[in-house]
Amino acid sequence: MRNVKRTLPLLIPCLAPHPHPHPNPHPRPPAKKAADGSVIPNGYCDFCLGGSKKTGCPEDLISCADCGRSGHPSCLQFTLNMTAAVRTYRWQCIECKSCSLCGTSENDDQLLFCDDCDRGYHMYCLSPPMAEPPEGSWSCHLCLRQLKEKASAYITLT
Ligand SMILES: [Zn+2]
Ligand SMILES: [Zn+2]
Ligand SMILES: [Zn+2]
Ligand SMILES: [Zn+2]
Repeated sequence: MRNVKRTLPLLIPCLAPHPHPHPNPHPRPPAKKAADGSVIPNGYCDFCLGGSKKTGCPEDLISCADCGRSGHPSCLQFTLNMTAAVRTYRWQCIECKSCSLCGTSENDDQLLFCDDCDRGYHMYCLSPPMAEPPEGSWSCHLCLRQLKEKASAYITLT
């Protein structure tokens, strides 16, 4: 005789209905999400509205890890250094940019962007903190270490 598995009715005694069954603790800007929660990047450039292939020269879109907005490196005015660098980490667009040291996006008027990787840094989070935004190009410590004399900060100085 087969052992028929029966689902017993679950008896949950006196479970008071929760007033807010699904509260959303983190309201976010609307982003298309996949089933696993990852952001689905836009398949078109937010600037020229073109697809992944730009007329004439094939260009891969760069997509924001937070909102999925995409852009061509040339439409974003990215240098070759920057285009290569943003593919090595979770790049955020200008709207979503947060400081890579403290992780917040507050005080965005104090946020510096690295000219080589486009990461954001608060001037006050840097060590030593920066009082005034730098003139010309600025490269973060990661890029200075990685690119050395090829970093934008050096190229524009010489
Ligand atoms: Zn474009
Ligand atoms: Zn974004
Ligand atoms: Zn910061
Ligand atoms: Zn950098």
